[in-house]
Amino acid sequence: MQPGVPTIARQFGEIGRDFYARGWTLGTSGNFSTLVSRKPLTLAITASAVSKGAIAVNDVVLIGPNASVIGPRGQRRKQSARPSAEALLHVTVARVRHAGAVLHTHSIWGTILSDVHAGEGGLTIAGYEMLKGLEGVTTHEHAEWLPILENDQNMERLARQVEETLERFPTVHAFLLRQHGLYTWGDGLAQARRHVEILEFLFEASGRLRTIAETHAGGSHGTDKNPRTTANVGGPRIHHEFS
Ligand SMILES: [Zn+2]
Repeated sequence: MQPGVPTIARQFGEIGRDFYARGWTLGTSGNFSTLVSRKPLTLAITASAVSKGAIAVNDVVLIGPNASVIGPRGQRRKQSARPSAEALLHVTVARVRHAGAVLHTHSIWGTILSDVHAGEGGLTIAGYEMLKGLEGVTTHEHAEWLPILENDQNMERLARQVEETLERFPTVHAFLLRQHGLYTWGDGLAQARRHVEILEFLFEASGRLRTIAETHAGGSHGTDKNPRTTANVGGPRIHHEFS
């Protein structure tokens, strides 16, 4: 039996406090969802503009297959309690991947790598023992491909891109939105949370390694031979409502 909204809110709250403390969901960014029913598809999801460091029971809403609010019934929701703007992406991942939970973070390393590797359409992370934390991966001799999609405020269009990407790469555990953040999932909240922890570790390790490698390649005297590639790095972009 699926837990009720109060239990889900407590589970989201625990994950949220942890992710917020690690700097992965600052300033109300990020969002969490978990499956309540497969048929009809129903997700419990964090409401928009909620600090993930302080999720309360009224900050969780139930949404249907088109991401519109269907509950919880009989519970007074705050007027502002509407689903995250990105709810449709959660529904898409839950439907296409048969996921039991979807977690979305906005970490520094995930954001940087999503920009640096956007020109290649994604990045590959290989050889790390930590890869074995991804479901089904049994050896460090694994190459995990992480697709990167262009960010978009049009959620219908972005959801179609997500669906196409998941169908094109049926074995991926996650994807990145450029200059935005990470989406990963699992059969339940525990597995999805593990995937966030593993991937954020791998992002930071990859990012730091890249920085060290480029510093060494560029020499230590500030010469003009610094090989840093900035061609893919766009300028700052305004993101009004992150969630
Ligand atoms: Zn977001």
